[in-house]
Amino acid sequence: MRRTERYQLFCPGPVNVLPSVAGALTSATIGHREVEFEQLYADILVNLLEIEGLSSQAYQAVVITGSGSSANEAVLSSAIGVDERVLALSNGEFGRRLGEISSIFNDRTQVLSCEWGEALPLDRVESLLAAGGIDWVTMVHHETSTGLLQPVEAVASLCRRYGAKLFVDMVSSFAVDSLDLSLVDFATTSAGKAIGMYPGLSVVYGRRAHFEALLGVKPRSYYLDLGRHYRFARDHRQTPNTPAVQLFLALDESLRLLREEGLSARIARQARKADYMRQRMGERGVKPHFTAGVLSNALTTFALPDGVSFAQIRAHLRSHGYIIYGGKGPLMDRVVQVSTMGEISMDEIDRFLVAWDALLH
Ligand SMILES: *Cc1c(COP(=O)(O)O)cnc(C)c1O
Repeated sequence: MRRTERYQLFCPGPVNVLPSVAGALTSATIGHREVEFEQLYADILVNLLEIEGLSSQAYQAVVITGSGSSANEAVLSSAIGVDERVLALSNGEFGRRLGEISSIFNDRTQVLSCEWGEALPLDRVESLLAAGGIDWVTMVHHETSTGLLQPVEAVASLCRRYGAKLFVDMVSSFAVDSLDLSLVDFATTSAGKAIGMYPGLSVVYGRRAHFEALLGVKPRSYYLDLGRHYRFARDHRQTPNTPAVQLFLALDESLRLLREEGLSARIARQARKADYMRQRMGERGVKPHFTAGVLSNALTTFALPDGVSFAQIRAHLRSHGYIIYGGKGPLMDRVVQVSTMGEISMDEIDRFLVAWDALLH
């Protein structure tokens, strides 16, 4: 195995990055307690808010060195009080994980667990909220393990009606599927997915008032203390500990490109790629595994074609230079996940399909 191998990443992260993003990694050598880093972090924070059309009076973003899970853990360990009650909605691996992380920090976490890919039972969510006492609801926007979008708007309106706060993991939907962030109290994303950067940085978005409320609360994590991340970002455009400086340079470049293109134009472009992949796979008799629900623009979970295992598909595509992903949990060995959320052109999708076709011959 050579460490210089270059694959086309059709998996849901890590993703293909543009040459200018790769180049940004080595574009500067700076100290993280210097004015250069503060300017860099300031630019990143401004772009994160402006891309989403959020005002800096009402909202704040912070960047954490760590993959998407670290942002989720920062929110769940810091923002939810020990005495508060949490309802974690789960119909796939990542919704389940939010419940699992929350349970570590909060004994009053209740997981509403559904079959993978099943629609969330909004009537049940409503009756639980109506019964009273639930302070927070957690959910995933794009449940990556199934490829299905979840009804954030409907849950947000239930939360508003019954006075609960909402935390949304949009790790695999930011910049590829649209979500009105003003509906949620905290949301997380990762630079290593549709933002188009390398893995290693994650983002927490939140209402400024919620961030302010974290100050002075006894932390239950050191590295992931969200209040501390907020205070450093607000007061100094700094991070509490040594950040992955080179990744910040690359994130700055990928956000600059996203801002230049515009969020809705980017999402439309991603939708065209996902639609094209589904259409072309459909012509080959390869169909989405889930027939009900809203498919994301990030990836499609396809049912395995007859007579071929996931291991065979994976090995075959790998030998042609393509990395795809399989199913987790109940979907193991039943599906193949194909993502186009990274820097993948229509031509590259055509080349992928040529490699796919060679599989059955
Ligand atoms: C990728 C992903 C995460 C984070 O996983 P990491 O392994 O920490 O990158 C969290 N939630 C969702 C929905 C994801 O797709």
